[in-house]
Amino acid sequence: MKKGIHPEYLETKVRCACGNEFVTGSTVKEIHIDICSQCHPFYTGKQKFVDSAGRIEKFNKKYNIEKKK
Ligand SMILES: [Zn+2]
Repeated sequence: MKKGIHPEYLETKVRCACGNEFVTGSTVKEIHIDICSQCHPFYTGKQKFVDSAGRIEKFNKKYNIEKKK
């Protein structure tokens, strides 16, 4: 790698909203995320939406998506 043109690669602590923490590599020291592999519905099999401002509801209304048909 050329010196001086690459950002510093640090060990990054990633903290999820569910409380899970893990270490990875990035250019920043700490990352806060809303969802991680421990709490993502794909991995847990549960439905968990982080709908902070009713955005999902608005979207569903806009495109006439009903919860159950
Ligand atoms: Zn998580």
